[in-house]
Amino acid sequence: METIKYKRVMLKLSGEALAGENGFGIDFEVTNRIAKEIKELVDMGVEVGAVVGGGNIWRGREGGDMDRTTADYMGMLATCVNALALQDSLERIGVHTRVQTAIEMRQLAEPYIRRKAMRHLEKGRVVIFGSGTGNPYFSTDTAASLRAAEIEAEAILLAKKVDGVYDKDPHKFEDATKFEKLSFIEVLQKGLQVMDSTASSLCMDNDIPIIVFSLDQPGNIKRAILGENIGTIVSND
Ligand code: UDP
Repeated sequence: METIKYKRVMLKLSGEALAGENGFGIDFEVTNRIAKEIKELVDMGVEVGAVVGGGNIWRGREGGDMDRTTADYMGMLATCVNALALQDSLERIGVHTRVQTAIEMRQLAEPYIRRKAMRHLEKGRVVIFGSGTGNPYFSTDTAASLRAAEIEAEAILLAKKVDGVYDKDPHKFEDATKFEKLSFIEVLQKGLQVMDSTASSLCMDNDIPIIVFSLDQPGNIKRAILGENIGTIVSND
C-alpha cells in the first residue's frame, strides 16, 4: 500500500516547462503528459492546485522600453493562455478542473475566490490558478507560494528543467553538485536560484516545503507525493 506524504499540494509549472523542446509556445504532447501525471495524483485522492507561469509566451522584464506594468499585465495574460491549455489537456482525460484567475475574465474562468477554490479541491477538482498574483512586479513563483499558503497546501512541487538545486548551473559546469536538502535560510544566503526571494521568504515564513524536480522523468510527480527523494527539498528543517 502506497503512503501519501502530501494530501494537498500546489504544483508550480513554469511556462518553459510547457514549451517542451521548442522553447516557445505550448507543446501539447507535454501538457498531455503532465495532465496524465496529475490524473494519477487525483486518482490517489491527492488534492491538486496548479499555478502556471507564462515565460513560454511573455515575460514582463523582457519588455524592453515598455511600461513595466503593462508588460507585466501581458505576462499575466500569458499565464491564462497556459492555464486554459492545461485545463483542456486535463478535461480531455476526464479530470474535473476549474481555472480561477486573479484578474477577472468571467467568460472563460472563475475569479479567484479562496473559499470556492477550497471547495473545488475538496471535491477532487484540480484548480488551476491563472494571472499570477494579479499584481505587476510579482512572479508566478510568488503566486504559487501565496496560493499554497491560502489553500493550506502541504508542499509546493516546483517542476523545473533541471532535476533539483545545484551549487552552480549544471548546464554550464560539469562539476556542479546537486543538493538533496536545503534550508530556506541557505537558499536565501547563498542566492541559489530556486524561486525568487519574495517567493522563498513567503514559503519560509509559512513553513511550506518546496520540492524541486524535473518533469523530464515520467512519474516524478507521483514519486514526490510518495515522499521519494527525486530532486531537492527546501524546508525549514
Ligand atoms: N507576472 C506578474 N505578476 C504575477 C505573476 C506574473 O506581473 O503575480 C508577469 C510577469 O511579467 C512575469 C510573467 O507574468 O514575467 C510570466 O510569469 P513568470 O515569469 O513567473 O512565468 P515563468 O517564468 O514561471 O514561466
